[in-house]
Formats: sequence, structure tokens, C-alpha cells
Amino acid sequence: MTSLLDSLIPSSDRRQLIDVAFQHAPQYIWLLGPEGDVQACDQAVRELEGGTDDGMRGRALWANRWWSEPELVERHLRDGIGEALLGRRLSFEARVVRTDGDRLTVDVLVHGFTGDDGARRVRVDAMDVTARARVEAELRASEAKFAGILAIAADAIITIDQSQTILHFNRGAEDIFGWTEAEALGQPLEMLIPPRYRTNHAGHVEAFGQGAVMARRMGERREIYGLRRSGEEFPAEASISKLDTPDRRIYTVVLRDISDRKRTAHAQQFLAEASAILGSSLDFHATLRTVVSLPIPLLGDACIIDIVDKQDVIRRIASSHPDERKAFALRQLEARYTPFWDSPSIVIDVLRRGEVEVVHGFDEAFLDAHSVDEEHAQLIAALGSKRAIFVPLIARERVMGVMTILGEGADAGYDEQDVALARELGTRAAFALDNAQLYEAAQLATRARDEVLGVVSHDLRNPLSAIQMCTRVLLESPPADEAARRDLLEAIAQATGLTNRLIQDLLDVANIEAGKLSVEKAELSAAELLDRAAPMFESAARERQVRLTVRAEPGLPMLLADEGRVMQVLANLVGNATKFTEPGGSVEVSAAPAHGEVVFAVQDTGPGIPGEQLPLVFQRFWHNRRNARKRGSGLGLAIAKGIVEAHGGRIWAESVLGEGARFSFTLPVVKGTG
Ligand code: ADP
Repeated sequence: MTSLLDSLIPSSDRRQLIDVAFQHAPQYIWLLGPEGDVQACDQAVRELEGGTDDGMRGRALWANRWWSEPELVERHLRDGIGEALLGRRLSFEARVVRTDGDRLTVDVLVHGFTGDDGARRVRVDAMDVTARARVEAELRASEAKFAGILAIAADAIITIDQSQTILHFNRGAEDIFGWTEAEALGQPLEMLIPPRYRTNHAGHVEAFGQGAVMARRMGERREIYGLRRSGEEFPAEASISKLDTPDRRIYTVVLRDISDRKRTAHAQQFLAEASAILGSSLDFHATLRTVVSLPIPLLGDACIIDIVDKQDVIRRIASSHPDERKAFALRQLEARYTPFWDSPSIVIDVLRRGEVEVVHGFDEAFLDAHSVDEEHAQLIAALGSKRAIFVPLIARERVMGVMTILGEGADAGYDEQDVALARELGTRAAFALDNAQLYEAAQLATRARDEVLGVVSHDLRNPLSAIQMCTRVLLESPPADEAARRDLLEAIAQATGLTNRLIQDLLDVANIEAGKLSVEKAELSAAELLDRAAPMFESAARERQVRLTVRAEPGLPMLLADEGRVMQVLANLVGNATKFTEPGGSVEVSAAPAHGEVVFAVQDTGPGIPGEQLPLVFQRFWHNRRNARKRGSGLGLAIAKGIVEAHGGRIWAESVLGEGARFSFTLPVVKGTG
């Protein structure tokens, strides 16, 4: 057999081709005839085949047992032979199993040449590329892994070249900056940096490129900011590294959006400061004024607080506003539009449900649905609010009010973090308000105790001294006269009665304060009630030489009331009227029906009560100093008010100074009789 080298290489350029052969180092070489039949092979093939080429010669190369996919190889080889005969080359990759069982990957090159004999010949080179294929596969896998990491990283990973053009832009970068990869690639890095930092930034990157450090944190000396597609800036944390590839230097920037972290820190600081401010006063109204100003400006531009008082009445306080028109609207909303329990108001919903409500977009439909009249809607509209958070103020499981935070900003609205912050603020505010209320109640209780002690020591002492004096006279030197002894005993009985009444009054006041005044309602004729009451007042009126008239309008409906308690109220009012009216004056007691209730009135011709003191007369222990001479315990009217309100009625006083006073109260009637 011809040496392969001889057949392979025309003598003319053998030297050069030897070099080529060595350089490319094909490991297996065959010479084929036009039908693919093996005409010669090299030593490596012979070794592979067991040291002899006899088995190979004359057979088609694809018939060799070692090809893993012989059909595929046959197709490639046939194509290759065709190409080679035409002077072209064809290469393909094939997998082989050697006789020793090893699996290899070979690169097969089919090409042709013209031999010394002038005939066209086909040569097949197969090179073992198993190692390279493995490395490539590993590389591919590792690239895929790296690409996967880049893709899922929440951080922005951006590669730029020396001219600071973006080469790579991962998903994290897309999320953070708002540009898609396709939009960012090929663009200058500048577009991700707020304009005022651009010049400096480019210089920093260049300096870093020239320095010896391979990677470092950016913005060590000052905070750095990124620029989103929307134009919004955000605080960031970033590091940069450089890498020299064979063709260029690239920089990789890894950047993290730290707005959330900063916001959380800011919120914590805000809450800590709010707590400190809230803790600075125990005065309820001062605390309320503090609370209403706290959410501004971090959470909104205006704030309204609705607070439910002990009698379930809603009271409102609104924040101020630098814009005079809006400040006016807020004052109006405070003074005139405090919601009632049946208002179509979100505040009422939140008060009832105790859950936060967030509203975005105050459009016309919304205003219509949540305002009581046209003016109310206009006032809300004047505030220019675009969004609101309604936070229930909950302390000790009681919804004590609602904090409404209004925001003007046209941005997206309140997000979860804002709501969480508002909720936290609400919790702290409610806690502070509750504390202030408890403190106020404690102070009132202390004051009440002192007042009671004052009354007990002062007012009880008089009748007790009388009792003591009379008993001593009776014991030590009883008068011989029967009538004189009787006078003393009567004085004792009267003083005991007074003491008893005072104690009963104090008990009633205590029960009213605790909301525990017992009232047993029953059907009661108003006219009959007055008939029964009249004789009780007549003796006192006669004594004071005051004319007493009792007038019940005909057709009075049936009352639903506690007769004993109503008598108590009438006795107090008529008693006061008689007491303060000079002899010759008159007192008129009347009852008239009005809108499902009966209005009782006691009118006198006494000195009257100054207008500014009218609201005070129902406070316990209150006296008009000018009447000090006639003062009693100062509990009568407070008890009367408590009794009337326990029936669901109202009590009030009117007076023209010098002409007399008129005390009126209402009582509910049996349904269907009013
Ligand atoms: P008192 O036991 O002192 O009468 P009240 O609560 O009944 O307590 O009344 C409180 C105060 O209201 C009285 O001390 C008096 O100054 C004033 N007052 C009550 N009724 C009248 C009245 N008809 N005319 C003028 N002043 C009155």
C-alpha cells in the first residue's frame, strides 16, 4: 500500500503540506475513491482498527462499525465527496465509539485534491474534539447558568464598554429603570443617571478604569441616584468592576434600588418623632390639634379628624392649610359638615367597621355620592384632593374616631407602605388621645370627689349641727313646754330629711355620671301627672306668696316615662322657680304636645339668669353668686338634666334678666299617640 503521506501530498508542495498537516494535527486520515471506498488510511486509523488496514480497504468509510450514527455519516460523506470532487470542502461533527468503548466527538473534514497521477482524490480528516466539545458544553452550561443568574437578579446588572455604551441590561435593570433591554442596548449609560450627576459620573468611571483597583463600591462619599424612564429619581447603592476581554475593556455595574429601604427608615423615624410629639401633652384638645397636623406633609396636604364623644356625638377638627382658599374650605368642613351617624359618609363607614379605607381619584360621581349638598361637594372639590386614607382611631378595641388624610398629588396614589404608615400613625394617635381622655376623666373624677367632699362637709354640717344642738337641748335641759319640745323634734326631723335628700341627690349624680340612673318607663298620662303634682307645690307657693298656675293643654298624648323621676324634675324646677320668685310674683307650670313629644315648661317672674350663665346652670354644683343666699346643693338641675336625657328628652333654660326664667323639657310619648 502506498504510504499515506505519498498519496496525500503531491511531491511539489509536500514540505508545506507537512507543516499544515502538523499544525492542524488531524488524528485520523483516509483517502477515498469517488464511491466512498477506503483507498488508504493513516497509522492512527490502523491502530484504531487493530493494526491492520486490510479490513478497511475497499469498503465504504461509512460502513465502519465505529460511527454512532452511520446513516447520518453516510449522508454527510456522500455530500462531502460530491463537494470535494468539485473542489469544495464540507465539514461536520460526528460521534464515534472506539473498539475500546471510548466515546469520542470528531470534527470531520471532507476535501479533495489532484494526485500526482492527475486524478481527483478525496481525503477525509477526522480530528478528536471530545475535549473541546466537553469544554464547550461546559462553557455553554455555565454561560446559561450565569445568564440565568443575571436574568433573575433583582439588582440591575449593566455592562458598559469604555465609551460607556450599554452592552448588557438584565431584567433587574429593566424593572428598576423602566427601559426594556432592547431600548437600553447601545444607548449611553448617561440616560440612567440624573442630569446633574452625569459629568461627574463619566469622570469617575474613567478614573476607575485607569486605577489599579478592579472593583469598588460607587458613591462612597455621597449618596447616588438613578433616573427612571418616568423621570423619577431614586436612591441607589452600586458597585462597579472592570474586566479586560481580548478585544476591549468592559465595566459591570451592579445597582440596587434602595428607595424602599430608605422609605422604611424614614417612616420609622417619622413614627418615632410622632410618638415623641404625641407624648408631650396630656391635654385632650392639644393632643387632637397635634394629631391633625402630624400626617402633613409626609402623607398628605390636609387632615380632618372626627371624634366620637361620650354621648356618641361626632365632633370634628380640621388641619390648617397654607393656601387660604383651602384653609377656608377646611374650616367650613369642620364647622358645618361634621357627619351624623346616618350621613352618606366614608367616615361613618370607617367608624362603624373600624377598617382603613383608601380612595383614589375624587371624581364627580364620588363627590356626588359622598356629599350631603352641593356646597359640601364644592368644599371638598376646593381642597383639590386626589386621594385619601381614612384611618380608624382604635384604642382599647373602641373606634374613637377617624383620621382622614387628604393628598393633592397627582401621582399614582397611596401604596401599601403609605397605608401601613397611616395605620401605624393612627394607632399611636388613638393611644395618645385615649390617654388624654383617661387623664381628663381622672382629673374630673378628682375634681368631682373634691366637690362632693366640699358639699358633704359644708352642706351636711348645717343640718347635722341643728340635729346635734336640738338633741343636746332635749337631753340636757328639756323645755317644760310640750310645744317647745315638739318644735325641737320637728327641727330634728326637718334636718334629717334635708340630710337624706342631699345624700340621695349625691347618689343620683353619681349614677348619672356613670350612666346608671335607673329609669322605669311606663305609659303615663301627662295631664294626670300634672294634676297629681300641683298640690305638692301649692303649699310652698302659698308660703312664698307666689301665685302658682298649672295648665295642661287639652288632648295631651300618653307619655312613656318614669312617674317618680318626672316628679323629681318638676319638683326641682318648680321648687327653684318658687324659691327665686319674690312674693307677689307668679309661677306657671304647663304642658303642651309637640312633634311626637310633650314639652313641659316652668315659667317664673323671678330675677332671671344672665345669658352667659344659661349654659352653666345644668352643671352640677353651679350657683349664681348673686343668689348665694338661696343656694341649695347645686345638684338639682344636673339631676333634672340626667333624668330627662335618660328618657331620651332634652332640657333647656331661657331667661330675660329681671323678668324671669323659663325652664323647659321634653319627654317622649307612646308611639302613635303623638
Ligand atoms: P340649687 O340647689 O342651688 O338650686 P340647682 O341646680 O337647682 O341647684 O340650680 C343651680 C343654680 O341655678 C341656682 O343656684 C340658681 O343660681 C340658678 N337657678 C335655678 N333656677 C333658677 C330660677 N328659676 N331663677 C333664677 N336662677 C335659677
